Amino acid sequence: MPRGGQPEEELKALLPASVAVRFDEMFPDTRNGRIRRRDRKRAELLRKVEPVLQRLLAPTEVVRFATNGARQLMWWLLTAGSMNPFANRTTLVLTDKRVVLIHTDWKNRPRMFANQLPLDRIRATSGRNSYIFIRTGREQLMFHGVKRSEARHLRGLLYSTASKKGGWQNLCPRCFAATDSAPPACETCGEVFKSAKKAALRSLMFPGLGDFYLGYRKYAMLEILGGAVLWAIFLSTLVPAVRAKGSEGALVALPIFALVALVHVCDALLTRAKARTGLHSKDGALPSE
Ligand SMILES: [Zn+2]
Repeated sequence: MPRGGQPEEELKALLPASVAVRFDEMFPDTRNGRIRRRDRKRAELLRKVEPVLQRLLAPTEVVRFATNGARQLMWWLLTAGSMNPFANRTTLVLTDKRVVLIHTDWKNRPRMFANQLPLDRIRATSGRNSYIFIRTGREQLMFHGVKRSEARHLRGLLYSTASKKGGWQNLCPRCFAATDSAPPACETCGEVFKSAKKAALRSLMFPGLGDFYLGYRKYAMLEILGGAVLWAIFLSTLVPAVRAKGSEGALVALPIFALVALVHVCDALLTRAKARTGLHSKDGALPSE
């Protein structure tokens, strides 16, 4: 038996059966006849998001590359959002029509929301270290945590056409209809979405409540715990001081109160930014089986 085409056959067997893949672009390094761990991982990555791709891709659409990392917003980098990669794992899928971002859990299974950027909306692509930057009409996407060689390869595949305006589009997590805005419900299938405003107001009331509403339960628990500790410090300063000096004693606790208020406001803004990254379905999530 000739052993020539074996690695290619093995990789093809790992790929999801229902998705068309441009093999040479997806696995640029298989020519030397062996499968690298990274290639195997990439095939597995695609298989995990297959339930989404199956419903999302057009019949003739071909997948060119896939990688995973964390989507970052400037807002998150400037605030406590450096914690955000924990809640914001993302699989990036490049097709011949668009770049698709699929929100996933730690095991790369589809989770809450998805976005897309049609290729003709890309104004520029660059990268540094483990970052990929994709500029569109409105904003710059920062995609972090990509393997250096993969980032380089992806940059080579993403050429800019730079003519049209417009940015990332939200995808309905149920029927995958694309929209440039954030409607309260899907115009195609009627799926109802969670409101960014409601999420922000909840986090303003108490840190973490907005995240809980959006469905980031574990992250929310951490924030609620942190908020509770802050409030405990505040109250344990305020109560003895007021008991000792009356209302004048409240002044002692004022700086801590300012800190508590700041944390509430920052978390509200952060939660709003997170809610706006995609359409969070009211009683569902991305298909993962
Ligand atoms: Zn829909």
